[in-house]
Amino acid sequence: MIRYEDIQEKVEAYNPQADFDLFRRAYVFSAREHRGQTRRSGEPYLIHPLEVAGILADLHLDMTCLVVGLLHDVVEDTLVDQATIEEYFGRDIAHIVDGVTKLSKLEFRTKEERQAENLRKMLLAMVDDIRVILVKLADRLHNMRTLDHLSPEKQVEIALETREIYAPIAHRLGIGRIKSELEDLALRYLDPEAYHDLLRSLDSRRKLSDNFIEEVGKRLGQAVAGQGIQAEVSGRMKSFTSILAKMKRQVIPVEQVYDYVAFRLVVPSLRDCYGALGLIHSLWRPVPGRFRDYIAMPKPNGYQSLHTSVISEKGQPFEVQIRTPEMHRIAEEGIAAHWSYKEGDQGRGKTTVPRVSGCGSTWTC
Ligand code: MN
Repeated sequence: MIRYEDIQEKVEAYNPQADFDLFRRAYVFSAREHRGQTRRSGEPYLIHPLEVAGILADLHLDMTCLVVGLLHDVVEDTLVDQATIEEYFGRDIAHIVDGVTKLSKLEFRTKEERQAENLRKMLLAMVDDIRVILVKLADRLHNMRTLDHLSPEKQVEIALETREIYAPIAHRLGIGRIKSELEDLALRYLDPEAYHDLLRSLDSRRKLSDNFIEEVGKRLGQAVAGQGIQAEVSGRMKSFTSILAKMKRQVIPVEQVYDYVAFRLVVPSLRDCYGALGLIHSLWRPVPGRFRDYIAMPKPNGYQSLHTSVISEKGQPFEVQIRTPEMHRIAEEGIAAHWSYKEGDQGRGKTTVPRVSGCGSTWTC
């Protein structure tokens, strides 16, 4: 269970100048208003806004966002009104809380893909401050993480909405980390059989893949270091959703998915990206047709990276992604990156510090 102090620590690490007085006040306010309320799990309700604020802190968002995270359910679930929030916390925060409350009242019907597309557009058009969406995504992520406590019908309904509305929005905003977790959590409820098959299969190979990740990761690190490139190397299992998409595309059973492991190299400069790529291709044989230069041609959501797949000595294919720290931040946080370090701009310079520790649920680094 996350504590107030844990979040404060997270924020201090990336924005020591943040207004912690304000944060503390919002915490006390939220705790008072939600007092006595419980979640379906039986836990105190306050855990939810705290977790939401924690997710927002993981995205390195500004204090306004975090305060809204703490207050986001107050207007909907307690007797507090908009005017009171404004009186205590100012117009900006009240306005964003209002946006989140309005979104929560939208009724989604997600029967058709076309309709889902319309809903996504409507939702994005409705908000005049993108932080409304960021808080809503964090809210949805925590609700998905705790979906077990709802009825099976409700689980499917919320998971469907997550897959069709919220994961694509996270994708469009370039927040890769949240997108993958939302997709994998939705899969767990929408296709439990496929999810558990994958889980079992990957689990049975876990020791093997852990060793593989360690071995190859070490070699990668040494090889680039030998060329004088300082790289942060990490390895992970790919997300369930992407593995499943591959199985469907190639019509193969899970046992035949071999390249479920991916490595990531975060290197200091653009030049190093291509340098590292050449080095990797000289060490391992590339899989034809798998090289993608998303640096020269970024994805529409701003994502940049070099992707390649190579084959190990033992014949196991694996993917390598190469990017600079700035590209890495954009890949993980997308549009949220623009709302980081807002206050005082003190941390701006820190945006070039690699942060490879942000491991999603399926990461093993
Ligand atoms: Mn909520």
